[in-house]
Amino acid sequence: MLAGLAILGVAIAAFAVQWSLGSSGSEDTSGASDASGTSVEITRPVRPLTSDEAIGVIPDGAPISVFDRRPAVSRLDPDLRAALRRAAKEAQAGGVRIRVNSGWRSPTYQRRLLREAVAKYGSEREAARWVATPTTSAHVSGDAVDIGPAAAANWLSEHGSAYGLCQIYRNEPWHYELRSEATDDGCPSMYPDPTFDPRMRS
Ligand SMILES: [Zn+2]
Repeated sequence: MLAGLAILGVAIAAFAVQWSLGSSGSEDTSGASDASGTSVEITRPVRPLTSDEAIGVIPDGAPISVFDRRPAVSRLDPDLRAALRRAAKEAQAGGVRIRVNSGWRSPTYQRRLLREAVAKYGSEREAARWVATPTTSAHVSGDAVDIGPAAAANWLSEHGSAYGLCQIYRNEPWHYELRSEATDDGCPSMYPDPTFDPRMRS
């Protein structure tokens, strides 16, 4: 025990000597290193996309901004996206926030949704009322966006046509597409559901 303390004491003494030597050796340069650190540029680290984000998935209950840079928004048709952003700014000024629940989807993601719909609705025929195929979906081509919450859908149903944003299907009050002529003529009449849409017959 005492021997241990003695060794420890020697070690501390040796360290102290080294420290004082080192310290005195660098003393005259110590004032020269204070100019850095005043203009550090803070850049937000770019997080890589998750595999789901890359195919356009927006998780349930976690809608994203119309200004988001992830593929669900960034791969929308530029005219649709611009109209959506203009409308969102105007809505926001009125206290209504327009969010995106679904936008662009890759064919892979659309196939996944279709499989899930067939499982949920029991048949391909019934599923087709709700989910298009990768070749017919306006989401896959970047021409459709599902918005929320309900207040945003209400706002768009009233003001959307001024931006060319139109509800297309009576049974999907959240699904909007760009109909540029709507700014003059108003939105075209809706299909009761997607099975009435000629585009869905492939
Ligand atoms: Zn939709």
